[in-house]
Amino acid sequence: MDIIFQQVEHVYHANSPFARRALYDVNITIESGSYVAIIGHTGSGKSTLLQHLNGLLQPTNGKVIVGEQAITSGKRQKQLKPLRKKVGIVFQFPEHQLFEETVEKDICFGPMNFGVPEEEAKQKARELLSLVGLPEEVLTKSPFDLSGGQMRRVAIAGVLAMEPEVIVLDEPTAGLDPRGRTEIMEMFYRLHHEKKLTTILVTHHMEDAAKYADHMIVMHKGTVWKTGTPQQIFHDPDALLQIGLDVPETVLFKQKLEKKLGVEIPSPCLTLEQ
Ligand code: ADP
Repeated sequence: MDIIFQQVEHVYHANSPFARRALYDVNITIESGSYVAIIGHTGSGKSTLLQHLNGLLQPTNGKVIVGEQAITSGKRQKQLKPLRKKVGIVFQFPEHQLFEETVEKDICFGPMNFGVPEEEAKQKARELLSLVGLPEEVLTKSPFDLSGGQMRRVAIAGVLAMEPEVIVLDEPTAGLDPRGRTEIMEMFYRLHHEKKLTTILVTHHMEDAAKYADHMIVMHKGTVWKTGTPQQIFHDPDALLQIGLDVPETVLFKQKLEKKLGVEIPSPCLTLEQ
């Protein structure tokens, strides 16, 4: 399922004195099965863009095409319901959205809402728990008795329970320690790799973008500034620094070394070990 943005513009509070244009002239294609990182400074439009992926927001002008479905201004929410299943969004701090009495009920909530029989949903919940690295005895516990990291895994299992074709991760490791961060990132990479799950990662961690994504979209002031492979994006670190983005240490080290030696070094630091 490819995702295409055509001339997308989004204005919050359009036609009011508080109108604010958050996106303009956005033209991108996200290919089915790819792993795309979206980076950009705070306020560059990343969050607005990702909410267009499952119809939570609709373009003020232009069109977002997700598989067979086109999202344009004025689409009714009912028409967009199937999209919510196909595109799962793991929002920042997803554990804040847990609400059921038990972990099992929380994970089963989405599928049962879409008509999956209870037993099937429970079986799925058990499988997902192991996938996100939690023991089965957690199922009967209250999500609120778990640690922050465990709660996040439960919330992620809840999104995966819908068996989305596309998963959108908005800073999925925010607030986690380095070990928890690596575990979560590796888990999503395995999922992407094994299930060919289209993965869209919004992150501040340039190292993660460089390590996991095969394509990057750099947002700046509400529009796409540059797209390309991590190698292409990090080829000109000074340009990234100028628009206020961090550059991985490894890239800066390579640049320094190249200047000193006067030769171009290939980018092994950006080559993903698969
Ligand atoms: P990012 O995710 O890159 O930080 P956002 O998409 O959240 O960027 O914001 C893009 C722009 O839209 C910013 O100028 C922000 O202030 C504005 N904005 C975001 N959400 C709203 C909203 N609900 N109402 C009005 N303006 C908003």
